[in-house]
Amino acid sequence: MSHYREFYTSPVIRFIAVMSLLGALLTCLHFDGYVTILALFFGALVYAFAEYVVHRYLPKLVPALYWRHVEHHKHPQELKYLFSPVYHDVLIYSAYIPLVWL
Ligand SMILES: [Zn+2]
Repeated sequence: MSHYREFYTSPVIRFIAVMSLLGALLTCLHFDGYVTILALFFGALVYAFAEYVVHRYLPKLVPALYWRHVEHHKHPQELKYLFSPVYHDVLIYSAYIPLVWL
């Protein structure tokens, strides 16, 4: 039980939970039939591809970024390593957001 309390009292987890709920709400409010379903499917594909690229090529392309990511794999139970550092995410999302904006 204490792990749940630790998990859900984390500000990062709360922020992501709120953003996820907001995203789900906006998706429902602006549902546009098969276009929305295709967009959700495309988003899942982009996410899976991005995960593959990060794990396959990041160690060779940007070893400093990957080193921080390795901590996540070494300590999967610790909240402080659950997410990447902010500067890591800024670099990733500066490429990801323009891609999904298309
Ligand atoms: Zn990983």
